[in-house]
Formats: sequence, C-alpha cells, structure tokens
Amino acid sequence: KKTLRLILGDQLNHQHSWFKDDLEDVTYLFMEMRQETDYVKHHIQKVVGFFRSMRNFASYLEERDHRVIYYKIDHEDNTQNLEKNIKDLIDKHDFESFQYQLPDEYRLDEQLKSLCEDLEIETNNFDTEHFFTTRSDLERFYEGKKQMTMEYFYRDMRKKNNILMINAKDPEGGKWNFDKSNRQKWKGKPEIPHERGFRKDVSDLVDEIKNAGVETFGSIEANNYNWPTSREDSLSVLNYFCKNLLVHFGDYQDALHTDEAYLFHSRLSFSMNTKMLSPKEVIDSVLDYYYDHKDEIDISQVEGFIRQILGWREYMRGIYWKEMPGYRRSNKLRNQNKLAEFYWDANTKMNCLHHSIKNSLENAYAHHIQRLMITGNYALLTETHPDEVDQWYLGIYIDAIEWVEITNTRGMSQFADGGIVATKPYVSSGSYINKMSNYCKDCHYKVNKKTEDDACPFNSLYWNFLDANREHFAGNQRMNMMMSLLDKKPPEEMQKIRNRAGEIISNPERF
Ligand code: FAD
Ligand code: SF4
Repeated sequence: KKTLRLILGDQLNHQHSWFKDDLEDVTYLFMEMRQETDYVKHHIQKVVGFFRSMRNFASYLEERDHRVIYYKIDHEDNTQNLEKNIKDLIDKHDFESFQYQLPDEYRLDEQLKSLCEDLEIETNNFDTEHFFTTRSDLERFYEGKKQMTMEYFYRDMRKKNNILMINAKDPEGGKWNFDKSNRQKWKGKPEIPHERGFRKDVSDLVDEIKNAGVETFGSIEANNYNWPTSREDSLSVLNYFCKNLLVHFGDYQDALHTDEAYLFHSRLSFSMNTKMLSPKEVIDSVLDYYYDHKDEIDISQVEGFIRQILGWREYMRGIYWKEMPGYRRSNKLRNQNKLAEFYWDANTKMNCLHHSIKNSLENAYAHHIQRLMITGNYALLTETHPDEVDQWYLGIYIDAIEWVEITNTRGMSQFADGGIVATKPYVSSGSYINKMSNYCKDCHYKVNKKTEDDACPFNSLYWNFLDANREHFAGNQRMNMMMSLLDKKPPEEMQKIRNRAGEIISNPERF
C-alpha cells in the first residue's frame, strides 16, 4: 500500500524499526512549520537546532534510499499547517495509508487523532521506541498508592531494567541514592575540560528562518554553532561526557559558578529529546565506561547521573500523560504577576539572576540548578503566574518540549500542581545560593542582610512567601521546620520583611 509516514521534529530516532525495512511504497514526511515555530516565541538556537537536525536526518534516510518529502519553512507547497499539508499530499500522491509515531506532546496528539478521524484512508500509529516506559506505566505503578514519590518509581525502574543492581535484587554500592554526597560547591577545581565544540556555520539557515518571518529571541553566533544536530554529533557529546565529565558529575551537580555555564553537566538533553540518542544507549554507555574505569570513577557520580534519566526523565513523562490536559491550567498558589522584564535581557543587579539569564540568552541552556534555584525560585517568590513562567522556559531552552518543560516548570519549580511532582516548594533565601555558588561575592546586594536597602532580595522574598502561603503549607511535614522558624520571627521584623518583599514584587525592574 502506498503509505505516508510522518516524522515530527522530535522523532529523529535512527534506530526505529520503521527504517529497518526498505519499503518501496513508503514515503517519509518532514515539515518545518509555523505552527511549531509560533506556538511560543523560541530562542533562535532552538529553531536552528531542530531544523538542522531534521534536515540531517532526512538526508540520512535519503542516502539509504528511503523516499522523503521535506518541506522547508519556505517551501512553496508548505501551508504551515500540519493537517492541511498532510491532506494536500495524500490527494496529490494518492497515498492509501497514513502512519505516525505517537507524539510526546498532548497538543500534537490531539491534532493527529482528529486528523485521522477526518482522513478517509487507513491510518495507524506506532510507538516511538525511545522511552523505557509507556505513557501510562507510571499511572499504573502508583494505582492505589497514597503518595507518589520519584524515589520508589526510580527503584522499580532500576530493578525492572537491571541497572546498577547486584543479582537483580540489591542496589550496587549498597544504597539506592547517593544524593547526599552530591552537593559540593565548585571553587575553580577540579578543572573542567572544555569541549572544542562543533563550530558549525548555520548562517544560511538563520537567514531562511528570518526571511520566513519567524520571530525568535536570544543570540546566536551563526558561524560558530555548537549544539549537536546529527546522531554522529550526539554520540560525540556522549563520548565526551563519559570520558571527561562523568567522573565529577555527581559532586558538582548542584554547583553554580559565574565563569562556567555547563560545569560537569552532559548537555545531552537536546539529543535525547529529539531522540537522536535513546536514554538506554546513554545509560549503557555510561555504565560501560564506569565498569571499565571503576578505579577512577565513584559509583555516586554514576548513580547521580542515571537517576536523572532513568528516574526523573521517565517520571516527568508519566506525570505529563497522567495529568494532562488539566496540568496546563494548574495554579495552586493562585499567583498572578507578570514575569519580570529582565528575564528577556538579563538586566538586573541581582548577580545570580543576571548570570543565569545571560547564560540562557547566549546559549539556549542553563543547568538544572540555575533553572530551579535561581530563575524558578525568583519567579515563584515574586508570585509570577505559571503561564508566564512556562512561556519563558518553553521558549528559551534548546531542550524545551512541553512534556518535560511543563512538569519541571509548573510542577517541580512553581509548585503550581500543589505537590504532585515536588513534595515541597523549591524556594530558598540567599544563603542557599551563596552556599552553592560564587554569585554573591560580586553582587550589588549583601547576602547576609535581611531587609535593608542593600539586602539580598531573596531574603525578604523567601520569608514573605512562607508567610503569604501559610494555609497551603500548614499540614506539610517537610515544611514544619521552616514554618516554625517563621512563627518565631517578631512582628516588627515580619512587617519589615513584608514591606521590603512588597517593594520588590511590585517593582522588579528597580532591583
Ligand atoms: P544533565 O545535568 O547532564 O542531566 C542528564 C540528563 O538527565 C539530562 O540531559 C536530562 O535528559 C535528564 N534530566 C535531568 N534532570 C531532569 C529533570 N528534572 N527532568 C527530566 N529530565 C531530567 N529538561 C528538559 O529536557 N527540557 C526542559 O524543557 C526542561 N525544563 C526545565 C525547567 C525547569 C524549571 C527545571 C528546574 C528543569 C528543567 N529541565 C528540563 C530538567 C533539566 O534542567 C534539564 O534536563 C538539564 O538541565 C539539561 O541539561 P543536561 O543535558 O546538561 O543535563
Ligand atoms: Fe543573588 Fe542575593 Fe547572592 Fe545577589 S546576594 S547573588 S541577589 S543570592
């Protein structure tokens, strides 16, 4: 049967069984579309990353004699709309069957389901063959259980997949979790080996995107583009990580530093989220490297890394499919403020925010703790509406795709789901930031001061946040200690805290 198979921008899975057979009557379809570039304003490096990776994958298939239709953003037949393009192509080429892989985004899932209802030809969908779990595994795992925590899901995943296990029963190293040994500040040592980077020239693509009228933000060095955009590139990032960065991954996982945007982080999220790499092969490579270098690498580094992928990444996906579409509207703390303007230009005297936002605008990247404890923390403490926060995170990061963005942003970082992902809100005063970074040293504000004009804004914001949300945290055991410290604050101090926080919240640009 003459078949049209759709490949979305985040379905670049070279190892998918679709490509194992050379079916003469199958045509693969790729489309760069305004519906994808415009559902939120994206960082220019993100749009370039997706288009270039799609083009590379399409060429890879063509080189292997597969038939491909590729609509560039400015292709004359490209209506910029998924349904319309597909319907037009089916009419034009008399396709008798339409097939797609299950999308990871709810929005596209709905769109494709409704398209298939409309089509008069045979339609089928397939698994992406990427994740360890299916969309509904997590929901089934927690059925009948009172509390969902990532830790139990993660342990189950370790057992089921026999990863870091002894006799498929006990955790290797005697513990499931080495989190406590993973929390060091980075003080210039150990040295971080710097990758040379890919240094690609993507000027033509940047022009095509601009000429098509796509609005983007953030900066790009068009003749020095460094993100992986092919399977080969992605494998080299993975290799580099195993050889050079894994050895200290866990130790400095939570560290922050003015001079180092990446520290020991892997930068593999884009390759995995576009499926150029599978999570299984990433974990297998890390394990192979670890078992060959056991005398150099401690299990805590390896376990810390594997937990992110086998645990958090799969967990977030499960939460997404369990909670959507309602999740998109959740705003438990009823926050209503606009996102501070400086998120778009990094123009703030708060050094931690300045650096984290500057990194993000320059690289379409920030590591986890910058996203969680700097930009996310500040947005939550200043009572920002989760829609505003989501839009920024969804646009700015190269790895941002809704299933993993919204669960991290609205859930883990903004506590908007009321505790589904995180059992307590990830907020802190300046002292945590000072403990994990060198940001405070050169900051305009003094991290040890509380409410004076030059006091660190995070300090008053933090206590004000706990005070303003007492009703939500009253029964939360994990908040007990902080709430009782709050209760001990004298009324005059609380008044000063409220006043200072109120000033910051109503006038963020002054700070
Ligand atoms: P590493 O630190 O090297 O970690 C290795 C891998 O583990 C990552 O590549 C990623 O695939 C996985 N991982 C780590 N933490 C998480 C997590 N919390 N959830 C899911 N996977 C995780 N990740 C995205 O892929 N897309 C997003 O849009 C995204 N938005 C985020 C928003 C906020 C507010 C926060 C706090 C986190 C977000 N994350 C997101 C998770 C995490 O910050 C990124 O995956 C990570 O920074 C990517 O960089 P890396 O590849 O160098 O990660
Ligand atoms: Fe950030 Fe406060 Fe430290 Fe300045 S003093 S860098 S605002 S935590």
